[in-house]
Amino acid sequence: MAEPTKYLAFTHRLVMVGFGSIGQGVLPLIMRHLEIRPEQIQILCPDESGLAVAEEYGIGFRRVALTPDNYRAQLEPLLGPGDFLLNLSVDVSSVALFSFAAERGALYLDTCIEPWLGGYTDASAAPAERTNYALREKALEAGRKLGADAPTCVLTHGANPGLVSHFAKQALLDIARDTGTETGNPAGQAGWSDLARRLGVKVIHVAERDTQVPTTPKRPGEFVNTWSVDGFYSEGCQPAELGWGTHEKGLPADGRRHDSGSDAAIYLLRPGASTRVRTWTPLAGPINGFLITHNESISLADYLTVRDGGKAVYRPTVHYAYHPCDSAVLSVHELSGRQWQMQEAKRLIVDEVQPGGIDELGVLLCGHGRNAYWYGSQLSVDEARRLAPHNNATSLQVTIPVFAGLVWACENPKRGLVEPEQMDHERILEICRPYLGPVVGVYGDWTPLHRREELFAEDIDRDDPWQFKNIRVV
Ligand code: NAD
Repeated sequence: MAEPTKYLAFTHRLVMVGFGSIGQGVLPLIMRHLEIRPEQIQILCPDESGLAVAEEYGIGFRRVALTPDNYRAQLEPLLGPGDFLLNLSVDVSSVALFSFAAERGALYLDTCIEPWLGGYTDASAAPAERTNYALREKALEAGRKLGADAPTCVLTHGANPGLVSHFAKQALLDIARDTGTETGNPAGQAGWSDLARRLGVKVIHVAERDTQVPTTPKRPGEFVNTWSVDGFYSEGCQPAELGWGTHEKGLPADGRRHDSGSDAAIYLLRPGASTRVRTWTPLAGPINGFLITHNESISLADYLTVRDGGKAVYRPTVHYAYHPCDSAVLSVHELSGRQWQMQEAKRLIVDEVQPGGIDELGVLLCGHGRNAYWYGSQLSVDEARRLAPHNNATSLQVTIPVFAGLVWACENPKRGLVEPEQMDHERILEICRPYLGPVVGVYGDWTPLHRREELFAEDIDRDDPWQFKNIRVV
């Protein structure tokens, strides 16, 4: 086998906060593709379920839960200029951690904007305050205070959010090529938003179908998932959110706008885990997914907005359409029946996945001259296992962009706070591609009106298939 590429010689210290499925999955990639010694890495994590993996690689493991009261004292001795803070935890504030990292001169990356424990499900907070929109606005404000040349702090760089924004740029270039549209070599927000507008992209789904199956079926009273059960529960209980396109004719009855900030997204007065949308992936075909809130729904919609004198004149509707593994769908069904009281047992399946399942994860760009174009990864669990230890298909699609983001941050150490859209998509895809299985771009003639005519007398907008009203399952 060829020697693995060493992307850089990492000479500083690396602190990993949280060591669950993503932490355990990214560690082998770090050890394989960086010049780094185990003594340079320290894990801080309250539960020891990943201890054996840490020991396998000779990494120091301190059993501690970070809290608002202790995080500064815990991290201060471990972080200085040039060091790296990799936040792969749940229930630890991203804003607190990246602000502290910047104060210490350290670089930072996380995979979602996380509040402190309880923030997502705080019943005393208004729905608008529990949105990713609100979390993002707070993070961007904290980022502005750091300054544009602060140590690089990469926000939300997993699979989605993260990798999918790079897929979206590649998809725009592909559609331009196939429709004979001048790309104008887009650079920066103005170039990419102008290209999306000229192509006529109305809708972008992050369209995902996970077909992985556990070796032991889900039992009653158990939540089963292929990645963090706590993470999925938290985001599923937040209000559904979507980047709100300028082509949309009317706000849904339960849709609300925010009264400050970018105005790129709306939220619905219901949890994402009970909101379903129609979408399409090449292998699965037409599917219903959950409209779970995600940062990319807002950041990508905001990035692709064309403004004229402050007024948005173009923006696609952007949202997640997630069909998790069938056991997770059953788990969500049971959970909603329990009025969102978490089940007694949680099971995150990595080694326990049967051979044969895949995670088909990509972006579906709709409404342009070629109708619909899906671009993404069709990684099977079998290939994921061949490629990297301690991963299933879902985790590897997250861990390789985490690793690529870490490399990019080290290569660009003075960029302040960045979201995935502000990074170099070619560099990230170059590092990720060997770990993503088949990466394909496929056109489809699917629209949300597919077969609807033959069924019920529904309230459908036939003039514009790409209205959210047609996409939402009611
Ligand atoms: P997990 O539940 O397997 O692991 C979470 C880890 O956080 C555990 O090790 C847990 O002990 C630790 N933790 C909990 N409280 C902590 C505290 N107070 N201090 C320090 N550590 C604490 O989750 P995962 O699947 O590894 O996911 C990790 C994070 O990545 C989650 O926030 C999840 O939402 C996010 N994620 C993002 C993507 C993406 O594509 N962007 C995909 C999957 C997961």
